[in-house]
Amino acid sequence: MPRWKYLSYRGDPNIKGLEEWFIDLSDKVRGIAGVPLIVTSGLRKSTSKIGVKNSAHEKGVAIDARSTSSFTHYRFVLALIRNGIKRIGIYVKPFPCQHCKKLITEVKLRPSHIHFDKSKDHPQEVLWVGVSK
Ligand SMILES: [Zn+2]
Repeated sequence: MPRWKYLSYRGDPNIKGLEEWFIDLSDKVRGIAGVPLIVTSGLRKSTSKIGVKNSAHEKGVAIDARSTSSFTHYRFVLALIRNGIKRIGIYVKPFPCQHCKKLITEVKLRPSHIHFDKSKDHPQEVLWVGVSK
C-alpha cells in the first residue's frame, strides 16, 4: 500500500528529497484542500539560483504548489492553517492588461502559486504575498 493517498515519488518527482514527515503533512493538506497539489518546487540545493538563500526549501521542508485561482488559494490557505502550518506565501504573477492597450506599463496580477513550509528557523505565524518571476 502506498504511503501517501495523493502524493507519490513517481507522480510528483518534485517531492524527491523532502523530509518524509513533511510529505505526510503535505498529503494531508492536499486531502483537506480538495484541489490538486501540483508541486512546482520542493528541495533546492543551497547553490540554486532560484529563491532566497537559507530558505526552508534547502532543508527539505517546503513546497511551492501551483495555485492559479483565488479559489485554490483559499482552499490551500484553509487546509494549511488547519494542519498547523504557520508559514504561508501567496504568489501572484503580473500579466499585461487585455483592455488597457494604451497603458503598456499597466499590469494585472493573477494567482500563480502558494509556498508553505515547516521551517523552525524562520518567523512563525506569517502569511506573505509575493510576485512570481
Ligand atoms: Zn517556496
